[in-house]
Amino acid sequence: ALPPLPLDNPQAKALAYTENAATVKHPLFKPGSDCANCNFYKGAPGQAHGPCLMFPQHSVAAKGWCSAWAKKV
Ligand code: SF4
Repeated sequence: ALPPLPLDNPQAKALAYTENAATVKHPLFKPGSDCANCNFYKGAPGQAHGPCLMFPQHSVAAKGWCSAWAKKV
């Protein structure tokens, strides 16, 4: 499995990544959005972490969020 994305990873910081979408205060945040319903998320349903196309070296939290979020299509 991929290692969890560190919060101090430069790209994570640049995209304001957090492991808890419930606490996000960011101008681009849309209520209800999180990694699990992001188009870049490739984790299996019900798993706490999964791969993200934006961070190919790491896994991200299903309940996480970053400013690259895009609605799953
Ligand atoms: Fe989460 Fe989507 Fe950002 Fe990846 S791109 S960290 S799945 S919000």
